[in-house]
Amino acid sequence: MITFYNHLHAQHQGKVEMFRGALVPCYEVPARADHVLAELQRRKLGTVQHPNAFDDAVLERIHSRRYLQFLATAWDQWVALDPANAGTDILPSVWPTRTFRTDIEPDNFSAKMGLYSFDAGTPFTAGTWVAARAGAHCALSAAQAMLAGDRAAFALSRPPGHHAGADFFGGYCFLNNAALAAQYLRDAGMERVAVLDIDYHHGNGTQACFYDRPDVFFASIHGDPRTEYPFFLGHADETGVGAGKGFNLNLPLPRGTGYPAWAAALDTALARIQQFGAQALVVSMGMDTFVGDPISGFTLHSDDYLRVGARLRACGLPTVLVFEGGYAVQEVGVNAVNVLQAFADV
Ligand SMILES: [Zn+2]
Repeated sequence: MITFYNHLHAQHQGKVEMFRGALVPCYEVPARADHVLAELQRRKLGTVQHPNAFDDAVLERIHSRRYLQFLATAWDQWVALDPANAGTDILPSVWPTRTFRTDIEPDNFSAKMGLYSFDAGTPFTAGTWVAARAGAHCALSAAQAMLAGDRAAFALSRPPGHHAGADFFGGYCFLNNAALAAQYLRDAGMERVAVLDIDYHHGNGTQACFYDRPDVFFASIHGDPRTEYPFFLGHADETGVGAGKGFNLNLPLPRGTGYPAWAAALDTALARIQQFGAQALVVSMGMDTFVGDPISGFTLHSDDYLRVGARLRACGLPTVLVFEGGYAVQEVGVNAVNVLQAFADV
């Protein structure tokens, strides 16, 4: 199986994130991707390539132009405020909730950061845009490889993507790699594409991108948002809206859920994806369902991921796998590559 590796990922290296009123070291660190790459190479699991180049217009198929322009210029705007800012990551601190207006982009930089984000856990750094864009190119390259006939292709990138919406970042995510891949497959002529999100956290960004559409089915298995991040989306009664009604499936599970109950939810999701008649599958492959994950609450074990990969493969669809979360840094390589191993011989 071919892997498209974001060789620029380490340019995004946040120092701190806000947690319960304190600045704590980032969980989303470059070593995550390094460990997955090392394990891929150790098992000799197919070729590893840099991503292909894409025009920025392809990003506009999912993200708004003004959001992309902000991401591309945010660091320069930040340093222009004060040259000393060059040594400090940017974190938002004010947001336009509910009755505020979001149609006017403020001139104030802090206000712009708030307009385009939803938490203070996602530092924006000097290399964020470069890394995120190359990561999106990895997902798009994997979609291209799948269209060219590969049974499965893997986008190994960070920062992750599934929390990012059309015009906002958060949850360590800036560009929605899985949504971009799904849209790319649609634009290439595939009529029905499914996105399956198996990260511990609900893929709020992906859901929002496709919530009113019947052509991209979104299914997510995740920690119950009543207690788990991102808290404000991911409930079972969110089934789509308008033409998209019936094309969104959320399967929230309580903290502490182990493999048997989790796998039953996976079977439910895959059955619905088959029923939908998907021609291709995009998997948001978060590995933070692992029992040792420091910020999550499911109890899957490393061997379980071999079974996860086998179930994904058994659904028989051409598949793009996109690396998302997973913060047990020492184990994330083994766990991720266990999923991929199931596809290795095809
Ligand atoms: Zn996650």
